[in-house]
Amino acid sequence: MRGPRFDTLAVGAGYGREEAAANQGSIIPPLYLTSSQHFPTADDMGAALSGGSDDWVYTRLGNPTVRYLESVVAALEGYGVDAEVGAAATPSGMAAVTLATSPFLAVDGEGPMNIVASSACYGATFMVFSQRYGRERGVEVRWVRDPSAIDEWASKIDERTRFVYAESPSNPLLDLIDIPAVSRLAHQAGAPFIVDSTLATPALLRPLGMGADIVVQSLGKAAGTSGASLAGAVIARRALTSAVADPAVTDDFAAYLRRGPIRDMGGVLSPFNAFTILSDIRDLRYRVDVMSRSTLTVAEYLQASDRVEEVFYPGLASHPSHALAQDMVLVDSEEDGKAARRYGFVLGFRPVGGAEAAVRILDKFRLIWRANDIGRAKSAATIPAIATHRQVVASASSMATVPDDLIRITVGLEHIDDIIEDIGQALEAA
Ligand SMILES: *Cc1c(COP(=O)(O)O)cnc(C)c1O
Repeated sequence: MRGPRFDTLAVGAGYGREEAAANQGSIIPPLYLTSSQHFPTADDMGAALSGGSDDWVYTRLGNPTVRYLESVVAALEGYGVDAEVGAAATPSGMAAVTLATSPFLAVDGEGPMNIVASSACYGATFMVFSQRYGRERGVEVRWVRDPSAIDEWASKIDERTRFVYAESPSNPLLDLIDIPAVSRLAHQAGAPFIVDSTLATPALLRPLGMGADIVVQSLGKAAGTSGASLAGAVIARRALTSAVADPAVTDDFAAYLRRGPIRDMGGVLSPFNAFTILSDIRDLRYRVDVMSRSTLTVAEYLQASDRVEEVFYPGLASHPSHALAQDMVLVDSEEDGKAARRYGFVLGFRPVGGAEAAVRILDKFRLIWRANDIGRAKSAATIPAIATHRQVVASASSMATVPDDLIRITVGLEHIDDIIEDIGQALEAA
């Protein structure tokens, strides 16, 4: 017998009747806004503190509301994956990036180490690798300039590679990675493959089922669509590949993070924020479906406009990742007897007239918000070169992959005709 489907897990994984009975029958996972737990006896306290268990004691060591969120996230990211999967919640997506990667940089006294990462990555991720790891800790950072070139990955990964990292789809150009091929290369070298798939969400892509060892999510984006909270998660398969990390790290990486780095270094998710994400994540598949269909409509509209130079959206045949994007399938959904392809809720475009035209168009939006955000119910637009990717552009002009006239739009849940009208009037007026 098959288990529950994706939507059923999104609505209720990790919180069944037994949990409800322990919570006065509440059908909604309660918000535990509390720092610590009282124990009936010293023995009970000792048992909870002796480690090994995921019982909570003090909210830095775990909190029931945060655990409920971790159960849902693990169930969704592990959906259809032929392996046991665990999740550790973090206070932001960047905390997840840091926690997913830093445990593999332990010093082993055997000489220099390197990491291999796609240069098409989020600005703050670029800074973590180049500054925090590269400049401050002496880790050699090998950037893959063309992430679609498997031989470039192959030439940069070696036995001193501690982890291999990619974003798929990438922000903001929406390039995709051949996850099975890069996983194989990483594993041959004894390194874990870590994928940030925030722009797909598990409703469209589950990298753990394609060979990746660890997934990073910024849960404050499409998972937490209302925009009330930042949050993140590290989701990992059991017994992941790492030639250097201890079995205590690799056997259950998510549990290791919860019981080690998160608890010791204190980067914990607030239960309040976990609660808002839990409330938002229930209808993830429906929202990603509507947003993705609207985004494709916007992409096609822009592509047909003579005021637009170039559109970046993997749903368009002109996008370099269009073939790989055929892996982006709306979970549990078919259309005309075939898998329902969806390409996500973010697109980029370059207007005719360059960077100055881009600024003028951005200023003309009336419905679409000028904001640095992604995955919101509200459509929002930004110019990445002056916002999130400013650091990448400034610190690596030689490999700056983000054009300075690129407008990025995250398409929300407003009526598609209103969104198109707003874009039309902005292009017209600029
Ligand atoms: C937003 C984002 C992050 C960082 O997440 P925060 O929650 O803002 O820390 C990482 N990766 C991608 C692809 C993102 O879009």
